Amino acid sequence: MTALTSADVRHLEQSLRRMRAELATELARLAESLDEVRVTRDEAQDDEHDPEGPALTMEWSRLSGVQHDFAEKLARIDRALQRVDDGTYGVCLRQGEPIGRERLEARPATEFCIDCALELEAEQRR
Ligand SMILES: [Zn+2]
Repeated sequence: MTALTSADVRHLEQSLRRMRAELATELARLAESLDEVRVTRDEAQDDEHDPEGPALTMEWSRLSGVQHDFAEKLARIDRALQRVDDGTYGVCLRQGEPIGRERLEARPATEFCIDCALELEAEQRR
């Protein structure tokens, strides 16, 4: 497996920054939606018999879950960008071997090579 060239890293860094910007936009939108649901739910709670209460609570949980996922993705992208700065980008965090370029193209923020990712997944399932 060939190591990444600096042009590869620059290219992947751009992908990461683009993904980060999109996620940040999505997160801002989600925060607004959560605010709206909260306000609507608080209003509904003044009326104990409002049938919308449970639906709003479910919507709240769903949005919170998505927000949590996005925040984690954003953190992973930030860690990847940090590794670009440190000059350790593209190296598997588990065993230190290079991560395949194709894998990085598909998942620029990935922290593990495909072998380790599969092993970790298998471990989690156990
Ligand atoms: Zn690995």
